[in-house]
Amino acid sequence: MIKLEKKFTSAFSSKLLAWYAVNKRDLPWRRVENPYKTWISEVMLQQTQVGTVIPYYNRFVKEFPDLRALAEAALADILKAWEGLGYYARARNLQRAARVLVNEQGGVLPNTHEALLKIPGIGPYTAAAVASIAYNENYPVVDGNVIRVLARVMKILTPPSQKTAKSGIVNAATELLPAGQAGDFNQAMMELGATVCTPKKPNCSECPVASFCQAHQTMRDPSVLPAKIPPRKRPHYDIAVGIVWNDDRLLMVRRPTSGMLGGLWEFPGGKQEKNESLERCLEREIQDEMQVEVDVLAHFRTVPHAYTHFKITLHAFQCRYLAGQPSPKTAADWDWLEPEQVTALALPKSNKKILEALMENRR
Ligand code: SF4
Repeated sequence: MIKLEKKFTSAFSSKLLAWYAVNKRDLPWRRVENPYKTWISEVMLQQTQVGTVIPYYNRFVKEFPDLRALAEAALADILKAWEGLGYYARARNLQRAARVLVNEQGGVLPNTHEALLKIPGIGPYTAAAVASIAYNENYPVVDGNVIRVLARVMKILTPPSQKTAKSGIVNAATELLPAGQAGDFNQAMMELGATVCTPKKPNCSECPVASFCQAHQTMRDPSVLPAKIPPRKRPHYDIAVGIVWNDDRLLMVRRPTSGMLGGLWEFPGGKQEKNESLERCLEREIQDEMQVEVDVLAHFRTVPHAYTHFKITLHAFQCRYLAGQPSPKTAADWDWLEPEQVTALALPKSNKKILEALMENRR
């Protein structure tokens, strides 16, 4: 366990807090003192850059201004507001938690890490961020930015994905946290990682904690930390999807509510099998999954897309509906819709690109 001297921890936090007071970015969620809005911003900021989050946050809190509005909203509207932000389980979990809070807890977001963690849909990171930032509870937040800063300051040479390194970092974050200033301290650590101690080019000459940083003082290139485990090659899949026309309407299917991209709408189709043409794959998938026969007409668009654990190439084909009453095997729902109606649905990014190309062609 890392044991830091009191002199070190208080000097470190004073320098960092003084820097943060002058250099913190003016962000919309920092202009309000509202635990609900802190919660929304912290969930959106997970795995997502600040610049991407700002417009989503502004629209989201306008459409769902409080816990009750979020709890009572249709999931489809929440997913639509989240469309393009990715990791859609976050949006579903927000509503799951909002419903528990409104129906069972008097519509109030709890003010401690422990109580927040008991709410289904709120995980350890979010509980720490909300408890400390909205309620100033003395609890450290350890996100990717904080891990990077502390791996460098403490010169931790083992990858943080390993248990001992991670617990050393959590321990250091706890020791460094100045009592009564958790909200500012945690945000300052994250801000330092996002703007100064960046992954590839740490700006050590502008860093307020450079005099405490072992990597800066003893290594030629601190950016080699945190130590990385070589990434595994992500598998790639070819997916064929159909723009299936029945007169002037399209067949759209909704993914099951749980699981990846849960609850989003998409064009029907599926994964190409070995030695199978894309056209044959599409006929087979739509027949198997929807009990619908189609005539595959022409290739329309190819859209590559990368997820965290795999990559896909989406091949979209124009198709004509031939026969069969849609009867989905796994989809949660389906509908025949005019293209303009499809634009109102929440779609995964890759499907949205196909829809945009389709709408562009119709102009
Ligand atoms: S001195 Fe450099 S490596 Fe160390 S924390 Fe600051 S920016 Fe990061």
